[in-house]
Formats: sequence, structure tokens, C-alpha cells
Amino acid sequence: MAAVGDDCLFCRIVSGEIPADVVAETDVAVAFRDLNPQAPLHVLVVPRLHAADAAELADAAPETVAALVRLGRQVAADAGHDSHRLVFNTGPDAGQTVFHAHLHVLAGRSMSWPPG
Ligand code: 5GP
Ligand code: ZN
Repeated sequence: MAAVGDDCLFCRIVSGEIPADVVAETDVAVAFRDLNPQAPLHVLVVPRLHAADAAELADAAPETVAALVRLGRQVAADAGHDSHRLVFNTGPDAGQTVFHAHLHVLAGRSMSWPPG
């Protein structure tokens, strides 16, 4: 498994050791604004449990994956957006740079398909 705890950026944000602009929290996840937003709303929904990617999280705690999706919808709706895009980048070729599972929630502009 990749970095955990002290070595993992998102473990450090979830624990409060590194500050972030938190918009919502539950017992299993923390939602905070992406440092480099790609849409007017760009929030990362991050499980408190460390897993390297979404598939590993699904194996370890499937109900937490559902909780991320529900919190993503809530964050978008609370910001006034009916439509939102949810993205799990998995692996370097897919653009994953932080190896602690996280759900990107993007909203507030019209989006193209296919993604780049
Ligand atoms: P990935 O590329 O792994 O799918 O997504 C990682 C995301 O984390 C990127 O969109 C990047 O902008 C964001 N990010 C990286 N470091 C930080 C940080 O220290 N704080 C916040 N809020 N976002 C970060
Ligand atoms: Zn972690």
C-alpha cells in the first residue's frame, strides 16, 4: 500500500494537521476545496480511512464509497448546482497524483466529453 498517516497528504488534511478549506464533514469523510480548482465548484471528498484508490476503498469499506457519492451530491446541491461531475482518477495514467482515495466533485460550468 502507498503512503499512510504521516507520509500521506490527505491523511494529514483529514486529521487537521494540514489546513484545508473544509465545506462538509461526516463520520466517514471530509470534503474540502481543491487547491487548484478546475471548475467554479471543485471539492475533494476524502474518506477518513486511508486507501490508495477508489477500488481499494471499495474492497475495504464499500459503504464508504456510497457515502462519498452522497456527500458529493450534497456539496454540489448546497452550492446550488443541479448537475455535477464526479471523478475518481485511478492510477498515474488516469491523472491520479495523491494516492489516498478521493472523489472530485466539479460543478458550476458546462463540461465537455470525453475528458482530456
Ligand atoms: P488527483 O490528481 O490525485 O486525482 O487529485 C489530487 C488533487 O489534489 C488535485 O486536483 C490537486 O489540485 C489537489 N491537491 C494537491 N495538494 C493539495 C493540498 O495540499 N490541498 C488541497 N486542498 N488540494 C490539493
Ligand atoms: Zn492517506
